[in-house]
Amino acid sequence: MSRTFPLEKIRNIGIIAHIDAGKTTATEMILHHTGRTYKIGSVDEGTAVMDWMEQEKERGITITAAATTCQWREHRINIIDTPGHVDFTAEVERSLRVLDGGVVIFDGVAGVEAQSEAVWRQANKYGVARICFVNKMDRVGADFYHTVTMIKERLRCKALPIQVPLGSEKDFRGIVDLMENKVIVFPDEAESASIEEGKTLLAKHRQALIENLAELDEQIMMSYLDGKELSASEIKAAIRKLTISSRVVPILCGSALRDKGIEFLLDAIVDYLPSPLDIPPVAGTNPETGEKVIRLASDDEPFSSLAFKTVFDPFMGRLVYLRVYSGKIKAGAQVLNVTTGRKERLGKLYVMHADHREEIDYADTGSIVATVGLKTTSTGDTLCEPTKPVLFEAIRFAEPVLSMAVEPKSKLDQDKLDDALAKLAMEDPTFKVYYDKETGQTLISGMGELHLEVLMERIYREYGIKVNAGKPQVAYKETITVPVESEGKFIRQSGGKGQYGHVWLKIEPDTRGSGFKFRDEIRGGAIPREFIPAVEAGVKSALQGGGLAGYPVIDVKVTLYDGSFHEVDSSDVAFKMAAFMAVRDGLEKANPIILEPIMEVEITTPGEFLGDIIGDLNARRAHIEGIETREEVSNIRCLVPLAETFGFAGDLRSLSQGRASYTMQFHHYEELPQNLTEQLMAKMGRTR
Ligand code: GDP
Repeated sequence: MSRTFPLEKIRNIGIIAHIDAGKTTATEMILHHTGRTYKIGSVDEGTAVMDWMEQEKERGITITAAATTCQWREHRINIIDTPGHVDFTAEVERSLRVLDGGVVIFDGVAGVEAQSEAVWRQANKYGVARICFVNKMDRVGADFYHTVTMIKERLRCKALPIQVPLGSEKDFRGIVDLMENKVIVFPDEAESASIEEGKTLLAKHRQALIENLAELDEQIMMSYLDGKELSASEIKAAIRKLTISSRVVPILCGSALRDKGIEFLLDAIVDYLPSPLDIPPVAGTNPETGEKVIRLASDDEPFSSLAFKTVFDPFMGRLVYLRVYSGKIKAGAQVLNVTTGRKERLGKLYVMHADHREEIDYADTGSIVATVGLKTTSTGDTLCEPTKPVLFEAIRFAEPVLSMAVEPKSKLDQDKLDDALAKLAMEDPTFKVYYDKETGQTLISGMGELHLEVLMERIYREYGIKVNAGKPQVAYKETITVPVESEGKFIRQSGGKGQYGHVWLKIEPDTRGSGFKFRDEIRGGAIPREFIPAVEAGVKSALQGGGLAGYPVIDVKVTLYDGSFHEVDSSDVAFKMAAFMAVRDGLEKANPIILEPIMEVEITTPGEFLGDIIGDLNARRAHIEGIETREEVSNIRCLVPLAETFGFAGDLRSLSQGRASYTMQFHHYEELPQNLTEQLMAKMGRTR
């Protein structure tokens, strides 16, 4: 089977933007120009094609990455939509992981906003090549040059305008194409005067473009020094090379809402963003030998892919989105899920468009496909050809920091609710569901207030279940501060078959963020191999129950180093119990402390409100890391305990007459101050 699109004509891209910068509108326009949507959806009326989830339409924000495919100049462009809100950074991370290039959209009035900075850093981490589109050039206050300066300074990159606007705000009349050396006046504008003005801009800015390129590209430099006129194709080739290696970021401008500049943007995606052949081949490990394995982007290599998204479609059931890195696979084929070690059979394969899906027989290298039929594959798993296993690094997600008790309004809905929660948790690795045996409550946890709110709405809309939710609670953790050795014995011998489990454990504090490690140092068969997993299970279960106030214990290393067993009476259950008791007793002696999540908060505000906002932050136990003031606008970076952030959105709004904005994301866990530890323990009915 030959490919419909050669690999060099594929672009896997994401559109990245701060909320309201115009990502949805721009995507709509792209789909319109590439012929996929016939009626242009408008965000303001809530009909946009990409925002396919109900509550997204109401909120006007794009939450879940939906993939869509379109064609431009005989290239296939796969667009993976990424969310702008930081409560959903996991969504951004997972999409960045499978992208080759990104289009970053800025609001030409607001410039670079805090959330764009956060996503920019993530894109750096994944080495995603980028181009920028300065949108909303028609709006009052739009300033292309200021936005470019902000991109250079705040994002610390070599921003390279390849166009400049002809006029701005109401007077935005055209685009000066520095590369093609052309002035383009929009059809409904009077041409003659504009052309003259455009030529002046061209003379000024094309020179800067060429000088910038000459600095970075030897060939351009030679031609420049020789005084040769450079052709558009020479310039393009240099920009392509420099963009792919992330040494420059081409900047374009336009107005998505007025459909200005979108075709240039599509050209730039094709001309400058990488194809799967332009990125380094993916590396993974052989799960059997631990050796490094490289997979080239080629249909002739063994099949390998990464599952980057799971959704439950009301009509099709479970859909798993795959990025194919190498080889090709036929619908219905058997694959190995290297992450779980299980073989699975693929069902049908689809290419997803925003408004329909197209069934395909094969998924080949570089493609983004959705598949049904995979039962145990979840986000982040590697799927590959069973005889040629390779494991790609899993996508890492932050642990949820906020939890909330939920129950159905009608008891009859309990099973339905359990089912809905399980499905949502499978779709979203930062959303977890627990059942608290002590209180009989179902607890859900996520990354922030908005995250949980959105999930509650989905339960109502998609599953029709009305839910009562408790107040959001901070996900505290515990850890220990001194190492201890602890013995656990579980022995019952009274007639018949008894129980015998006996362990000695070393429990030690570990570095912050290390989670949990278990080591087995049993030598000489003091405990038979077969019982070791039961010991580990017992340890985990005791750590989950906490030592001080009942919160899960993290950042500890537990070593099993001695114990004993009984030929007849020893069992998994007995060893699990023994380990459980050893940890429970050990934690008490290990000087446990409570840890609280600390959030990184960044606030942008007009300078006049700075004093009041800092006053409010101080009352929230915030640690201010830095304040930058630039032209009336101040930017505060600080660390604030999550417990102190409730109601912050509202307070900030009233303190700044609605003009300040903020972003918040998890930063680290830190020891809770002594007085608050006492308070929290009292609340949980515990004493030291
Ligand atoms: P998203 O949150 O990034 O997806 O942004 P949207 O596409 O939903 O746009 C946010 C708001 O900005 C909507 O009201 C759009 O109509 C408006 N908008 C988008 N692009 C432009 C533009 O080029 N000019 C103007 N004036 N408004 C725009």
